[in-house]
Amino acid sequence: MATSKKKLTAYKKARDFTSTTEPSGKQRGRTTKRPLFVVHKHDASHLHYDFRIEVDGVLASWAVPKGIPRNPATKRLAIQTEDHPYDYASFEGVIPPGNYGAGTVMVWDKGTYRNIREKDGTPVFMSRCVKEGRIEVEMRGKKLKGAYALVRTKLREGQKKQQWLLIKMNDSYARHDDACFSGDDISVKTGRTMAQITKRSAGKDDDPPYMVGRRALQVSNLDKVLFPHDGITKGELIDYYKQIAPYMLPYMKDRAVTMHRYPDGIMHEGFYQKDIGDYFPDWINRAVISKEGGRNTYVVCNDAATLVYLANQACITPHIWLSRVDKLDYPDRMIFDLDPGKHNDFSLVRQAAVSLHSLLDEYGLRSFVMTTGSRGLHIVVPLDRTTSFDDVRLCARYIAEKLIAQDPKKFTLEPRLVKRHGRLYIDVTRNAYAQTGVCPYAVRARDKAPVATPLDWKELKGGRISADTYTIKNIFKRLERGGDPWKGMMRVRQSLTKLHKRMISDAKN
Ligand code: MN
Repeated sequence: MATSKKKLTAYKKARDFTSTTEPSGKQRGRTTKRPLFVVHKHDASHLHYDFRIEVDGVLASWAVPKGIPRNPATKRLAIQTEDHPYDYASFEGVIPPGNYGAGTVMVWDKGTYRNIREKDGTPVFMSRCVKEGRIEVEMRGKKLKGAYALVRTKLREGQKKQQWLLIKMNDSYARHDDACFSGDDISVKTGRTMAQITKRSAGKDDDPPYMVGRRALQVSNLDKVLFPHDGITKGELIDYYKQIAPYMLPYMKDRAVTMHRYPDGIMHEGFYQKDIGDYFPDWINRAVISKEGGRNTYVVCNDAATLVYLANQACITPHIWLSRVDKLDYPDRMIFDLDPGKHNDFSLVRQAAVSLHSLLDEYGLRSFVMTTGSRGLHIVVPLDRTTSFDDVRLCARYIAEKLIAQDPKKFTLEPRLVKRHGRLYIDVTRNAYAQTGVCPYAVRARDKAPVATPLDWKELKGGRISADTYTIKNIFKRLERGGDPWKGMMRVRQSLTKLHKRMISDAKN
């Protein structure tokens, strides 16, 4: 077996370490429990991706000109290049002009991998796999997930560099369309784009610090248009969240947040992110929450600076848990989600909301209504955190059944679209552990940047409101006029005990 020192001869020969900022490869690879992989996005003479996996203390490397495939039907050419030193895995920056591979390098993805290749039921060592020209690995990154194969092709005459094919193997992470990876232009190491990495390296990173209270934040790419039809930029999103913070924070306080991020704007597929990024600063509150087979470290947003930080990550919509981190199993709100889908009209949603309001009143429960900023409404019943999620969901279902009994032609608990026959689905399934709802005053990734807006019941009954009436452009006028209609809601703590008892006695009769 070649020592890592010997393996790096080609790497060292190609580089002048007095000029480039790349690692010199002096340090040997660390032996970790799980070997690591990194994919660099590299804007050299041609933009390409460098796929690197740790093998015997160094990073075996391939240049993939067309990017990493997600579709098993897409085989991507991968040209094997010289082994890189282990610490190259965290290299991000600009290789100066005149050097080998000059251009910007981003840590596009990084994680660990598992060698899954077997021969006759026995695992095959990685070094052997490379030699034999057949590698099968399971990736555990932020972007790359699931099994990949690298297969060497026969060297044709005149070919100097060994060519391989990088193939997505069929598993639950495979996509059978042309979907790209979300956040293609976002570094998993620093959250920066290629342009930002370039700018920063040239010392031109002169965006002035953005002050939120006493905290100076480094915001970036303020001119990036996130809502192309309306020309709304990331800078405007950041300003919005800074300004709305006093209204919004009471509803977010002490709750785990799932970020819905759109780094490339709303015309591109966004992605949900539960785990806080490695590069998020230490001052951001977080909560570690276990789940089946692992845990997530969530952001907990208790201050305006965190909200602004999330907006700078192009988190257009924060979604929040229905319980708070100190008592995760007991929600402090019950939610009815009224979403008309694409074809139903909003008047049916309004009718359902108004009827639910009176029904809940009859059971002595105060309820609050909010537009989702998308298509529907949320009805929220504040609770005293003494009823478990399962029981809350049963109570919600019981109320929904009462509503449906009043108007079976209009409303249904049937989630399947084909079986609804135009009826409005009364969704109570959000009343469950780890489920989230859009946060009041969160922006939605839709044209005009509508905002999820708490309403007065009177206002809804007035009939002029629809789900996307309020946007980041008109919400402050409304708040100046009437204040927050939900003000004081967080102090309302209601028990479901009576309702629960009634439900049980109903079931007996
Ligand atoms: Mn490269």
